[in-house]
Amino acid sequence: MELGRRDLLLAAATLLAAQAGGIARAADDRKIGYAIVGLGSYGLNTILPQFANCEHSQVTALVSGDRAKALATAARYGVPERSIYSYETFDQIRDNPDVDVVYVILPNSMHAEYTIRAAKAGKHVMCEKPMAVSVAECEAMIAACKTAGRKLMIGYRCHFEPYNLEAMRLARAGAAGKVRYVRSEHGFVQRDPSKWRLKKALSGGGSLMDMGVYSLQAARYMTGEEPIAVTARDSTDRTDPRFHEVEDMIEWTLEFPSGAIASCLSMYSANQNHILLMGDQGRIELEPATRYGGNRMWTGKDGREQEAPTPPPGPGRTQFAGQLDHMALSVRSGAEPIVSGEEGLRDMRIVEAIYRSAREGRTIKL
Ligand code: NDP
Repeated sequence: MELGRRDLLLAAATLLAAQAGGIARAADDRKIGYAIVGLGSYGLNTILPQFANCEHSQVTALVSGDRAKALATAARYGVPERSIYSYETFDQIRDNPDVDVVYVILPNSMHAEYTIRAAKAGKHVMCEKPMAVSVAECEAMIAACKTAGRKLMIGYRCHFEPYNLEAMRLARAGAAGKVRYVRSEHGFVQRDPSKWRLKKALSGGGSLMDMGVYSLQAARYMTGEEPIAVTARDSTDRTDPRFHEVEDMIEWTLEFPSGAIASCLSMYSANQNHILLMGDQGRIELEPATRYGGNRMWTGKDGREQEAPTPPPGPGRTQFAGQLDHMALSVRSGAEPIVSGEEGLRDMRIVEAIYRSAREGRTIKL
């Protein structure tokens, strides 16, 4: 049933991407307007430049605690000064007809608050991963958007990245046979102990809340199944000043209904970016797997793997533009985004179970 539902979602997304341009243009020529909340590394350096690659999306407002940075950024992207907000004046965004979608790119523990405030202001919401820092927060975010009749999408960019899309397609098509095992490790070296990512109140947790989400997502979208049990182990050197509040290295095993197993890991003390699927007739391997660019993939069997040719582009010229335009088309057509709030909630339920398993030293049934 789960496989069927996911395939339908993928098919619906493709159809939406193919059709919505024409339908939308007939109905409304204006690009969907985004307010970017948080002009940090990802918002400023990665997302904002991507509007130039979008067909259906434009940036129309900025929200920042740093007025000078917001003014300079607004000038660069042609955002009018009246559409710059601080965190205090954020709710006035309700009166700005140029803003359709609020894109929350803040530290993790602020995702729920700004998603809920945006929904109450009558705006659709794109929220970065991890969706929030608890299941309760995710549920409140979904409820707020539902009550307001607004869409909620999570910034799971890999669902718009050509190699990951091709890997999902191949896995579903049985290219590796029956899926037996998935492995995924994601990490980078977090050097600065003062970063919010290492402060539990802002991050909600360590590497699991950050890179671990990629490993967890990979386990789910490569198998196409939902896990039924998780066993986790936290291997953090708590004497390291970086890891007084949050975990460094955590590994977890997921069991799936088909009998497949996923072995996942995230860490803040080594660089790693990898997804491997092993089936009874072959394998699909991506390394690097989920980077902004330069990902690579190998497929084949029994030591005869070959590097896959560059797959056809996903919807949009880049994974980021694909993601932004997908939300824009969802807003226009009324269709659910393929990575909705419910998808973020599913991950957060597993994240909570991973932490619980590591804490209690036992397998947790999901
Ligand atoms: P940064 O630290 O670079 O930026 C966060 C921004 O949030 C700040 O610049 C600031 O913007 C604003 N902010 C508001 N309050 C605070 C506070 N108390 N402490 C720190 N910042 C605050 O983080 P990133 O941009 O790397 O990450 C932001 C979010 O995006 C995270 O949830 C992260 O997981 C996600 N992310 C997703 C990626 C992906 O590939 N999908 C990649 C990287 C990050 P201002 O000065 O404008 O107020």
